Amino acid sequence: MNAFKELGLEDHLVQAINDLGFETPSEVQEKTIPLLLDQESDLVALAQTGTGKTAAFGFPMLQKIDINSRTTQGLILSPTRELCLQITNEMKLYGKHCKGLNVTAIYGGASITDQANQVKRGAQIIVATPGRMKDMISRRLVDISKIEYAVLDEADEMLNMGFFEDITEILSYTPSEKSTWLFSATMPKEVSLIAKKFMNSPLEVTVGHKNMGSKNVSHEYFLVGARDRYQALKRLADANPEIFSVIFCRTKRDTQKVAEQLIEDGYSAGALHGDLSQNQRDVVMKSFRAKQIQMLVATDVAARGIDVDDITHVINYQLPDEIETYTHRSGRTGRAGKSGISMVIVSKSEVRKIKSIERIIQKEFIKKEVPTGMEICEVQLKASANKIHDTEINQEIEPYLNEINTLFEDVSKDELIKKFFSSEFTRFFNYYKKSKDLKSQSGSHPEDNYRADDNSTRYFINIGSKDGYDWMKLKDFLRDTLQLNQDDVYKVDVKDSFAFFNTDASHKDKVLEFFTDFKQDGRFINVEITEKKSRDRNRGGGGRRSGGGYGGGGRGRNDRSNRSGFKSESRGRRSDNNSSGRSPRRSSDFKPSGGGDFSRPRKSRRK
Ligand code: ADP
Ligand code: MG
Repeated sequence: MNAFKELGLEDHLVQAINDLGFETPSEVQEKTIPLLLDQESDLVALAQTGTGKTAAFGFPMLQKIDINSRTTQGLILSPTRELCLQITNEMKLYGKHCKGLNVTAIYGGASITDQANQVKRGAQIIVATPGRMKDMISRRLVDISKIEYAVLDEADEMLNMGFFEDITEILSYTPSEKSTWLFSATMPKEVSLIAKKFMNSPLEVTVGHKNMGSKNVSHEYFLVGARDRYQALKRLADANPEIFSVIFCRTKRDTQKVAEQLIEDGYSAGALHGDLSQNQRDVVMKSFRAKQIQMLVATDVAARGIDVDDITHVINYQLPDEIETYTHRSGRTGRAGKSGISMVIVSKSEVRKIKSIERIIQKEFIKKEVPTGMEICEVQLKASANKIHDTEINQEIEPYLNEINTLFEDVSKDELIKKFFSSEFTRFFNYYKKSKDLKSQSGSHPEDNYRADDNSTRYFINIGSKDGYDWMKLKDFLRDTLQLNQDDVYKVDVKDSFAFFNTDASHKDKVLEFFTDFKQDGRFINVEITEKKSRDRNRGGGGRRSGGGYGGGGRGRNDRSNRSGFKSESRGRRSDNNSSGRSPRRSSDFKPSGGGDFSRPRKSRRK
């Protein structure tokens, strides 16, 4: 007997499951479906992303509702529009043999009238985001007073996004004798609170270790200099020609920037974050699903729960603020039994976080070196050889072959192969031949942490952890207020009541000028240049000395342009259009995705 039938599902649902190609129930499905079919009870189910939670609540709900009635009986709340649509589609597929089933999606950014009309036609199941749902309730466009089943999907994320009050309000319009099913990847305090508040002795289902990552995912980290982050990202992509990945950044701004930069450098990339319009987001997601975009650069919130199979790599361009978030990120890959790789690009100051993550995921990271230029050339060469080998012959080429054959009459196969692949190889070779390796200098004096060159300026600032800053928050604050680029602020070192940071000397005037009279919350924020601490000099009498410091000096032994081998690589945005030409991706293989139009934000975050 079919394993799904054994769980107690009716034939028409089993049929839909067959159509979908699901062969065996996942663990959460196996544990949840019989429980929910058997009894009318509340339930809390904890399972990581990608474990098939939608079907775990979807099938029981479909079996239990009355299709012949047009009353709304099931309500599924989910944190984002993207997820809402995803669940709706899934539910429609599950219920494709249920005649008369109407599953309606309710979410912001689309016509409320259209949604209301769909509901009016008799939606047995509503899948909604909390904001729009609340809105529709207050306008009396939906009636959830008779629902029997309420699902809180991705509950932890909904609470993270501040939907607690909306959920409370929405549920207050539902009857108290319904069943509430809560699904979550993690169980923070807030979720247990909600379980207490809204549920009666819920059944509990836990799959795998709490917070543990998928076993199909391997974890790697790459230690690089803080400002080599973007270069490292490009190399990781270049070393994996078939990459299909989600790249996580911490802020919307970085997300946008990295995506734009990638597009500019010829990669097929797109941005996904909250400053994009709904329509822009839809376009990006559609291209990504269709694999027209190879690299989706996203914020955590925007990418939460996105269910795209076959993602080969998750790249943590920056580590998340909350270490727990790492599990969600890496859960985007290694789905449906496939293997995946989660990569983390870290600078020296963050490397200790790797240990904390290892404790949470209960798995070890593999420390890897960013591929060298020559390694990339080799990979690319092999990939293009394989591609040519597997290319299907287009018969339309026939009429032109005579001429081509004549042209190559005096060229042997051996030679032809060399010539053909040289053209591909040379592109990457020229780009990478002069590049340095992106290893972070290790084993040196801790002060080498400070960009050991004369083009860097170190500052003192009179705010610190006492004021609620950690190094990441301070870095974001500085970049935002100073309108600097990603990685223009580095070596941020936060003490209790003050902190230090660096910028390139070229930003010195801007920084000092900006903070001349800068007040925040009624208090002057003071920035001064700190004296360069040189190991060659007598350290006594350190202290701060304004006006002097790191800046100014001539180009010394440690000049970055010497160290890097070619000048431009170390300069933020321009770094890639370096002396050896455009990025090698800028050619045949990779079409920039749809002009990158959709990756522009609707509004600027800047005040
Ligand atoms: P979650 O909500 O736990 O993150 P989803 O419900 O989005 O996971 O399911 C992840 C993917 O796995 C979806 O593409 C879904 O169609 C697929 N899937 C779900 N159950 C099964 C199954 N039993 N066998 C194969 N694939 C499944
Ligand atoms: Mg889900």
